[in-house]
Amino acid sequence: MRTVNCYDTFRRKVAVYLADVQHHMSFGQRVFAAVVLSFAMAETIVSAMGLLLIGRITPDYLITGGVASIIVATLIVAGVLQLEKKTHRFSAEMKKSEQRLNFALGVAKMGVWELDLNSRRAYLSPDIYRILGIACISTDLADFKRLIHDQDAGLVFTALDKALAEQTPYVAEYRVCLPDGRTCWIEDRGEFQLDEATGKPLRVIGTLWDITARKLAEEELRLAALVYQNSNEAMTVTDTDNRIIAINPAFSEMTGYSAEEVIGRTPKILSSGGQDSEFFRAMWRSLNATGKWQGEIWNRRKNGEKYVEWLTINTIYAEDGSVHRRVALFSDITKRKEADTLIWTQANYDLLTGLPNRRLFIDRLEQEIKKAQRDNAGIALLFIALDKFKEVNDALGHQKGDELLVQVAERIQCCVRASDTLARLGGDEFTVILRELSNTGDIAPVTQGLITRLGEYFQLGKDRAYISASIGVTVYPEDGTSSDILLQNAYQAMYAAKQSGRNGFRFFTAAMQETAQLRTRLLNDLRQALQRSEFQLYYQPIVCLSSGVIHKAEALLRWKHPEYGFISPSVFISVAEDSGLIHDIGDWVFKEAAQQVKQWRERYHRDFQVSVNKSPAQFSGGKVAHRHWSDHLEMLGLPGQSIVIEITEGLLLNVDGGLKDKLLPFKNSGVQVAIDDFGTGYSSLAYLNKLDIDFLKIDQSFTRNLSPGSTDSALCEAIVVMAHKLGQLVIAEGVETEEQRALLVQMGCDYGQGYLFSKPLPVRELEVFLAANQSALASDGLTA
Ligand code: C2E
Ligand code: MG
Ligand code: MG
Repeated sequence: MRTVNCYDTFRRKVAVYLADVQHHMSFGQRVFAAVVLSFAMAETIVSAMGLLLIGRITPDYLITGGVASIIVATLIVAGVLQLEKKTHRFSAEMKKSEQRLNFALGVAKMGVWELDLNSRRAYLSPDIYRILGIACISTDLADFKRLIHDQDAGLVFTALDKALAEQTPYVAEYRVCLPDGRTCWIEDRGEFQLDEATGKPLRVIGTLWDITARKLAEEELRLAALVYQNSNEAMTVTDTDNRIIAINPAFSEMTGYSAEEVIGRTPKILSSGGQDSEFFRAMWRSLNATGKWQGEIWNRRKNGEKYVEWLTINTIYAEDGSVHRRVALFSDITKRKEADTLIWTQANYDLLTGLPNRRLFIDRLEQEIKKAQRDNAGIALLFIALDKFKEVNDALGHQKGDELLVQVAERIQCCVRASDTLARLGGDEFTVILRELSNTGDIAPVTQGLITRLGEYFQLGKDRAYISASIGVTVYPEDGTSSDILLQNAYQAMYAAKQSGRNGFRFFTAAMQETAQLRTRLLNDLRQALQRSEFQLYYQPIVCLSSGVIHKAEALLRWKHPEYGFISPSVFISVAEDSGLIHDIGDWVFKEAAQQVKQWRERYHRDFQVSVNKSPAQFSGGKVAHRHWSDHLEMLGLPGQSIVIEITEGLLLNVDGGLKDKLLPFKNSGVQVAIDDFGTGYSSLAYLNKLDIDFLKIDQSFTRNLSPGSTDSALCEAIVVMAHKLGQLVIAEGVETEEQRALLVQMGCDYGQGYLFSKPLPVRELEVFLAANQSALASDGLTA
């Protein structure tokens, strides 16, 4: 007969024995019975011997029998007592053993069961009830089956049937659903007991074991292994000697090394030499102190390629606190670093010139200020703005403009020390920080050198371009101690350099700040000037030099500031241009002038014409009101010829940049065009012909110096001749003296405008002037 194991058999026997003992007599009863029995037996034997030997029972025999009986009974009692003692001890030991066993089964969460294969009834030990958390269950196998998890019931009985068929031990792991809703994992093992006679299995005796904790641990391990194997992060595990004992597939993928190549080696195999020994000393200091380290590290792949990784090292300690393992996790961040660098570069550098941009410049300036503070040194900040860059851009195109900016950056770089910071703030604006300045006297030569160098021509492919630079200079700590203030100062000084004729430099002064503050104030007030009707148009007559007849006047804008009184357009027009307010203001001027010319046409002369100044800023941006203006003239019933638009010479360069198209609606409606301040700007004579120009207005700087035989006289004469050849009429501006007028008449100039005839006048006064002019002409026999 096959047994499950000797322990189980023994346990069963013990159980039977204990059951018998329970039904047995008490110890006293058992001793008394033995004494009486043995006495009776001895008496019976002795009496029987007397009868046998002498044929009767004598008192001697009875006494002898009694003595013998006592002896026998004593012996029997002694024997019984001995046996009882042994039995008792054995029983106690068995009980203890059973208790120990039950305790052990309880601790191990193990129970014993027996299944009778014929009746299909099962015996379950109390431990099983404990494990399953149930009070009692019937011996019907079907009841137990109901406890098994739906998904596992099949496998349990398949395993049992298989073991039965193959007569092999039965083993199954399955889940049971506990009454409290939990699921418990069970390991079930059993062996068959066979009938000795037939060899057929009679029953299965087995153990049932709660393995939930083990299963959970296994699941966690399985998950950990899954993570380890499938992680995108490379992993190494090193031992106490820092030798690699395990890696994951991501490690091989990232570094190119297989497990065989690195196991037993130290992580130094990846070393790129990108970090110095101090770096590693610091890393080990942290590892030894805290067990952790995290940071960026440059390493090298097997193919020699360097890469940067983000590395995290953690330590696993043994129970005695010594280092057991170190686990390193790292990811390749090379691409992210490259992207970060690119983003940083784009955020801090000007893509065109490669120079630091405004953001980085401010950062550097702040650093330089801190350094200068520490070293008690000086700094100079130069603000360089190119003059006429827009003209070049417009004339030659943006590509050439960009090329020019690159060359400008190179030239500036050559004029300063390598340690000085050059930046491009945007557009045509550059800045230079001259650091460690021991003597402010060094600034002017450097600045002058820049102006000279930038004044030289730029070769842009086949084209040559001329520009100049206006530079503002401010000095730390004299002018200011913060980056904001210094930059603002340098800008104001640059602005002053521009205002005073460009192509030069200016040091910052307190007065500039006042001017800048005034501009800010003006800007604020200018925003409300239109609504408050603070603008007014003055008109300056334009006189026909040959006849003295006045059929033309120039509209000149005046701003009556509530606090400062009349402010010259040369002060506020630039503010209006910078702020974009020029569009609304220009619109107002045009409509006002149109209204006025309508009246004068009716009152004085049907060909009366008013000139309106149009700032270059009005030609840029989206808000160009040309079409709207033509419509307005039509609405007033005015022909285009009633208006002349005065544009600056610089705009001529914009012929290819769309000026022609922008002027076309005017020209189509008959509006005429004059070039204002001719001779002062940067223009190509070729463009004069390209655009349909009606008048050239010689700038007053030429008229001012007119004297017989002077250069300006020759220039004016040349302009007159050229204009007439091109079919244009000439107006001389700023005619102040009779001599100038006479010379202009002599050279054939068509019109004159200036204080000699009249200053710009308000409407009423001009009307008086016109009336006086008309009557003077009439008395001279001329008609207006
Ligand atoms: P501009 O168009 O060249 O106007 C001529 C300027 O010379 C006027 O200055 C006028 O008062 C001044 N002027 C006239 N005759 C003489 C003279 O004999 N001697 C001297 N020294 N100056 C004379 P104003 O009115 O101060 O205007 C200055 C500039 O402001 C104008 O120069 C023009 O460019 C601009 N401006 C005036 N009104 C407007 C406007 O409505 N829109 C725009 N965009 N600009 C305007
Ligand atoms: Mg003008
Ligand atoms: Mg002018």
